[in-house]
Amino acid sequence: MKKKVLALVLGAAMVMTTLTGCGSGEKPATAQAAETAQVAEEAAGEAGSNSEEAGAKETDAEAAKDIASADVQAIVDRGVLRVGVKNAVIGFGFQDELTGEYSGMEISLAEKIAESLGVDVEFTTVTAATRTELLDSGDIDCVLATFTITDERKESWDFSTPYYTDYVTVLVQKDSGIAGLADLKDKKVGVSSGSTSARSLVAAMIENGIVSGDGFDTETFDPSTWTDGISFAQYDDYPTISTALSAGEVDAFCVDKSILAVYHTDDRTYIEEKFAPQEYGVATKKGSGFSAYVDELVTGWLADGTIDGLIAENGIE
Ligand code: GLU
Repeated sequence: MKKKVLALVLGAAMVMTTLTGCGSGEKPATAQAAETAQVAEEAAGEAGSNSEEAGAKETDAEAAKDIASADVQAIVDRGVLRVGVKNAVIGFGFQDELTGEYSGMEISLAEKIAESLGVDVEFTTVTAATRTELLDSGDIDCVLATFTITDERKESWDFSTPYYTDYVTVLVQKDSGIAGLADLKDKKVGVSSGSTSARSLVAAMIENGIVSGDGFDTETFDPSTWTDGISFAQYDDYPTISTALSAGEVDAFCVDKSILAVYHTDDRTYIEEKFAPQEYGVATKKGSGFSAYVDELVTGWLADGTIDGLIAENGIE
């Protein structure tokens, strides 16, 4: 019974190949690859036995090979999807130090993308400062690492439809007396290099009338030279900012709330405000045939409740 379902899926894939073979656009082909992969996945879900599930994976790989772009096929041929992820963001990308295992919604999403291609997944830990270099060099195929979609970044990389929206906030030592944005006036704040955090904080302070905003330009803003009412120290990773906060090297630690959670110890507190919505997307190389393939998957998983399920499973608000 199950074999018949799979045969039908394969047949459908072949018809799609024929239909799209002479088309000029990349998106319809990749869109159909994703659809075919999903049909095969559903068929596998109905089946149940392990050997049949293995068969369904092959069907996915065959379908992707037939109708997707060369970029997608290169990953299928390699047999491994290489993904840049975070290792200390609970619920998103977190690595168990003892077992080396990664977990979180971004890990599950990466595994699902690999599954739809019928390939294994290999994780590389990235930071805000390293994720784009690794993508540009081709060391990784995509980034699922609390990577905020911005207009500026879209000029250099492709992003999927957002799968989650977070906000920026600020973590301080409880005994600092800093309770809100206004108390950050003339303070020094630790941020990660390559992040949106400093710019978001200055924009929020301007909006709230705490700093004047003279000379603020989102396009040219540089945390290392900004001194109007607040200053910044940039670090390569978040553990170092946390240590700097404990040592009093900085007065506050600013980044997305999801990232701050792991550094929120008993002696620390968030300020009252959260600001600057951060939409996370899957980043791929600009112009890659893989971008549209990934976007189709993400769009489908947003529509069918898969992403909501992952958000709930991982205890994310
Ligand atoms: N999400 C923010 C960004 O993409 C914070 C940095 C980070 O993700 O590590 O800039």
